[in-house]
Amino acid sequence: MKSPKGRKAMRPCMACELFGILPARPAVDPVGWSSDDVDKLCRIHRDRTLAGHCLLCGKAVVWASPFEDRSIGCCRGCLFKNQGLNAARRIEAEMLGRPEEEDDDPPEVFWN
Ligand SMILES: [Zn+2]
Ligand SMILES: [Zn+2]
Repeated sequence: MKSPKGRKAMRPCMACELFGILPARPAVDPVGWSSDDVDKLCRIHRDRTLAGHCLLCGKAVVWASPFEDRSIGCCRGCLFKNQGLNAARRIEAEMLGRPEEEDDDPPEVFWN
């Protein structure tokens, strides 16, 4: 028996969806088998994330993340562009107000 072809099985990349990138590209793991958040991204966003770079521009380092996996996020410039100045300021304030618990970890910040 072959597995049924379901159109709904194709999941869009969670970053494309979140940032309203159209058309949203399919996730690397379209059926959600992987428990790794990075596999919920499309190939381009996944590559950028694995390189430690911003999802959106792929050049700068990740500054803040809306996802559970904090390595998936975007840089400050892109955050300003996408979420607006107020959201970026709120996140910044949150980051500054947060006591540092671990040295090497990037700050845990969510904007939604
Ligand atoms: Zn994507
Ligand atoms: Zn960026």
